Amino acid sequence: MELKELQNKIKRFDKERGWNKDWNLKDLSLNLTEEIGELWNLVKWVDVEKQKEIVKKKKEEVSDFVGDALFLILKIANQTDIDAEKEYFQH
Ligand SMILES: [Mg+2]
Repeated sequence: MELKELQNKIKRFDKERGWNKDWNLKDLSLNLTEEIGELWNLVKWVDVEKQKEIVKKKKEEVSDFVGDALFLILKIANQTDIDAEKEYFQH
């Protein structure tokens, strides 16, 4: 699935439920910060080798972070009417 397709899928999902009107960039930003904090808690204060071990042991938690963070980024893109794929390729 392309990134644009995924962004549109999230947009349709929210629209079907009327959630597209719940515009709150501050809450989404805080939620993203929380997700980053969860990843940080897994690997803070340890060296790179230990981080690699932790990622192997806690792959599911790291995978959750990637899914949740990507979802939130795309929701932010939808709410602010930004094409995430286009922005990615512009930088
Ligand atoms: Mg999470």
